[in-house]
Amino acid sequence: MKLHNPFTQPGKWYKANFHTHTTTSDGLQSPAETTEAYRQAGYHVLALTDHHKTNDVSALSRKNFLVVSGMEYHPRCPGSKMVHHLVAIGVPGGFGFAEQYPADANACIRAVKAAGGETFLGHPLWCGHRYDMYSYLRGLVGVEVFNSTCGRVGRSDSETDWCHLLDAGRIVPALAVDDSHGEDDRFCGWVWLRMASLTVRSVMNALRTGCYYSSTGPTISDFRVRRGVAEVSCSPVRAIYFVAHSSNGARRLAKTGKSIRKFSHPVGEDWRYVRAVVTDHTGMKAWTNPIKL
Ligand SMILES: [Zn+2]
Ligand SMILES: [Zn+2]
Repeated sequence: MKLHNPFTQPGKWYKANFHTHTTTSDGLQSPAETTEAYRQAGYHVLALTDHHKTNDVSALSRKNFLVVSGMEYHPRCPGSKMVHHLVAIGVPGGFGFAEQYPADANACIRAVKAAGGETFLGHPLWCGHRYDMYSYLRGLVGVEVFNSTCGRVGRSDSETDWCHLLDAGRIVPALAVDDSHGEDDRFCGWVWLRMASLTVRSVMNALRTGCYYSSTGPTISDFRVRRGVAEVSCSPVRAIYFVAHSSNGARRLAKTGKSIRKFSHPVGEDWRYVRAVVTDHTGMKAWTNPIKL
């Protein structure tokens, strides 16, 4: 994947949630109620991703608020009784698979692409999947690192899985999502897309190029590598990290009772990639997608 750094791209920031359930599958509220709740909460983009089924989203978008068609699908996970939780974005209404649990996940990912969509990997930690159970998947445009609803059983955070993929040279972006079912799982994790305009085409481009950053609270205002130095700026936080290949990276901590808003550090010879993570005083995080070095 060739990634675009959102902090050096022209355009505006648009807030998005890419994983949402409604009464079309196991959510508590209808597509209309769900989309209205997200619009009122200040989001610009919402993807409806019900299990096995798309929604007709044609009448749900509003001024400055775009609803995108999607679907969570569940191919079998080879060598186990488990299934994958893969999230398709940008598939047309009526898209679906003949079987509920198709045998070939990679064929499904290709079918999603052929229909104009893209797939990211849903909540690997909650699934209990080891690295070898998802690393064979090809053509994914991202991995969920924060999933709000998985936090209801203490398994929100799949950052370790992301590290494994990145360290293996799979430079993929990572998303924060709600996976909302209309309970206490809403408005907890989101992405800020950098786009020239609010269209489905722009959303798909941003997903395909990782042109966004993700958050459960803090904001990031800049991240780049300039003359061999990684730099990040953000809202007031307690800690800022540069995360790189395996044991490489750097950290800056605020003094007790204080906050920091920026960090810069030379990139090391063995870093291979660098991404920024910031953590605020309430434990909420934001992170950038990686820059390949
Ligand atoms: Zn799922
Ligand atoms: Zn889901």
